[in-house]
Amino acid sequence: MRAMPNSYDPDQIIRPEILALSAYHVPSATGMIKLDAMENPYPLPPALRDEIAQLTADAQINRYPDASAAALKASLREALMIPAEMEIMLGNGSDEIIQIIAMATARPGAVLMSVEPAFVMFRMIATFANIKYVGVPLSADFSLDLEAMLAAIGKYQPTVIFLAYPNNPTGNLFDAEAIARIIEATPGIVIVDEAYHIFADASLVDKLAQYPNLLLMRTLSKLGLAGLRLGLLIGRPEWLIQLEKLRLPYNVGIITQLVAQAVLDHLDVLLEQAAAIKTERAIMSRHLTALEGVEVFPSNANFILFRVNGADRIFLELKQQGILIKNLDGTHPSLTNCLRATVGTPGENAQFYKALQTIISPAV
Ligand code: PMP
Repeated sequence: MRAMPNSYDPDQIIRPEILALSAYHVPSATGMIKLDAMENPYPLPPALRDEIAQLTADAQINRYPDASAAALKASLREALMIPAEMEIMLGNGSDEIIQIIAMATARPGAVLMSVEPAFVMFRMIATFANIKYVGVPLSADFSLDLEAMLAAIGKYQPTVIFLAYPNNPTGNLFDAEAIARIIEATPGIVIVDEAYHIFADASLVDKLAQYPNLLLMRTLSKLGLAGLRLGLLIGRPEWLIQLEKLRLPYNVGIITQLVAQAVLDHLDVLLEQAAAIKTERAIMSRHLTALEGVEVFPSNANFILFRVNGADRIFLELKQQGILIKNLDGTHPSLTNCLRATVGTPGENAQFYKALQTIISPAV
């Protein structure tokens, strides 16, 4: 028998571009006021929670889930008013849908394009799927730099472009006309990621019929169901038939299917919560603007990006006081000294403003 070596070297086995990656870091938030991950801070009403308890108690978890999730898809169609001629594909979160699209389009020489700064998983997943990534910088005010985008499209001929509408981490909506120009100019597909759609009062869903290379992504995460992990892709059957081939058969579990469907039957609850978050967003924006030395960026999402003097110190001091937000300093040159706070409950937000105020202008 051949002697086994004492150790195997991951450097010799794992792809170099994976070795070079840093893992997506999710900080522990136990016991903290959690304003870091764009979650909806409100629980579901007790009656709906009881209904969910009963549904999960009765769920046949010894069986595989419905691989086509037909009942859930019908609920989603109705709740999200998805055009009848469009297909939908479900993902274990929209993260998984990004991954499916990247895997499907990673032909030799293919390019996945997005803007910078954008949702970091666009770039990371391109690397996972071994597809070249090109990030085109936004303008200084975080709007789309249409000229730069059109030049990059001409140069790289991207296979797929991801644009979040509204964008994360900047919170703004790009100009819909500029997005239309990009869709028309590119030889590939454009995925408009509407994760924050509920807070934006804007959507490109009506453009699906017009543009054969447009697909739309949504998620239930920001609506209040982040723990369930359910995202969806909406688009023409000719694209979704191909992408479905990469979806693992049982990617959406039975509990997710049952619970999402039950909650969608009470969509009014989620819509009321979203309305409350939008009201609080305006209040948060006013509070942050009133602080000395703070620059606040306009938001159409459930979070606010703002610039301070000394982001690292402020982030750490907030953390020491039990308030977790997101420090974006150092993640991109245009985000120097930028922090991002998710809109929480009025009580959580009030504690955040109070702590931030004392850190920024301590009483003498
Ligand atoms: N798209 C954007 C723009 C996001 O900000 C996020 C999460 N932060 C996602 C997609 C992923 O959402 P999920 O996987 O929870 O559906």
